[in-house]
Amino acid sequence: MADWSNWSGSVKCQPREVLFPTSDGEVATIVRRAAASQQVVRVAGTGHSFMPLCATDDVLISLDSLRGVQWADTVRRTAAVHAGTKIHELGAPLAKRGLALENQGDIDRQAIAGAVSTGTHGTGPTLGSISTQVVGLQMVTATGDVVDCSAESDSELFAAARVSLGSLGVITSLRLRLLPLYRLHEQVRREPLEHCLATLDERTHANRHFEFFWYPTDDCAFTKTLNPTELPATPEPEEGDGQGAGLASAERDRVGESWQIFPTARENRFNEMEYSVPAERGVECFLQIRDLMQRKHSSVTWPIEFRTQAADDIFLSNASGRATVAISIHQGAELRHQEFFADAEAIFRRQQGRPHWGKMHSLAARDLAELYPHWQRFLAVRRRLDPAGRFLNPLLRRLFID
Ligand SMILES: Cc1cc2nc3c(=O)[nH]c(=O)nc-3n(C[C@H](O)[C@H](O)[C@H](O)COP(=O)(O)OP(=O)(O)OC[C@H]3O[C@@H](n4cnc5c(N)ncnc54)[C@H](O)[C@@H]3O)c2cc1C
Repeated sequence: MADWSNWSGSVKCQPREVLFPTSDGEVATIVRRAAASQQVVRVAGTGHSFMPLCATDDVLISLDSLRGVQWADTVRRTAAVHAGTKIHELGAPLAKRGLALENQGDIDRQAIAGAVSTGTHGTGPTLGSISTQVVGLQMVTATGDVVDCSAESDSELFAAARVSLGSLGVITSLRLRLLPLYRLHEQVRREPLEHCLATLDERTHANRHFEFFWYPTDDCAFTKTLNPTELPATPEPEEGDGQGAGLASAERDRVGESWQIFPTARENRFNEMEYSVPAERGVECFLQIRDLMQRKHSSVTWPIEFRTQAADDIFLSNASGRATVAISIHQGAELRHQEFFADAEAIFRRQQGRPHWGKMHSLAARDLAELYPHWQRFLAVRRRLDPAGRFLNPLLRRLFID
């Protein structure tokens, strides 16, 4: 038995075994052995999800021994990476080959397969989540077979597998669409909220990446703008120089390689809920959550984050079939979040919100079915691949069966 905990400490479990396979073959052996003894198999990335997605009493797989870039094609701008590679381990090796990820989220500590499996995203109205950057993947299924899928080969599985919470199999390798290496100019500014909202639409569309954090303590916005630039790098852009709560909370200007500029550090632990609403409802939903915090939860000092995402066609994507605004709320890991998150969730649900799969929510299969245009197609793929529920823990049963 081993103790396992997620990043925020909200999830703890004691798997019978935690295993570190070094090849597809070893993953297949683990899955077959677990099947023979009727055990559940879960796979963990770096445990940065706030929900008990990885939790199991049985077999937990870590792909920490399956890391690194397998190959890169600089002409086609694609690369294959081992699924256990941390996002921060991709920047330098890809840069050496003149390549970079199209977009990234707020941090780069996650395993690439973990980030992909929950639809982890950054911001930008023309950009999708990291899952949309995947052009093919390989995984070990419940029978111990190794399957490969892409838009050209088993496209139904491909549309399901890119956001699948480890419910279809253990992803061992991902092929990514990349950009030529580029620098980003980051500008973080403190502004009156009114100015931020009055210029939001224009700035969202005039910049490659635009987002804002609203701070309840002084009702102001910190806007964050990122654009590709030819400007020289500013001296030593530090990887992860976030401040205070670790979210954008200090004005700054810096230029550096995209993979150095995207991530910020998260020094203080917190719990988080995030829902994605149709883009046109974003501001209204944000204002309702702000009102809730000011009226009823004024003790919460953590910010609301407001980001955009382009529509995509991945079955369980938060942006499946619709342009999206993702709104996140936070609370210190040591503080009670339950009442605040429950009140906010009621607002998010009235706004047709879809929960971030890695962040806190209370939804079950019956609630989720009506939120995703291709929900039934995902369920059909899941039943085809794992009829015995080898990869289902209690949370995944709630999401896909109950
Ligand atoms: C500080 C912090 C900042 C964050 N910032 C953002 C952000 O900016 N944008 C955003 O969208 N999200 C963000 N998140 C959420 C986070 O990106 C997701 O929860 C992500 O899934 C975590 O990746 P992980 O490697 O820790 O995966 P885990 O949490 O370990 O696992 C997540 C899921 O992926 C599955 N999985 C992992 N590896 C595999 C594999 N090889 N094959 C199949 N399934 C697999 C697991 O079974 C599980 O279902 C943040 C979370 C934290 C704690």
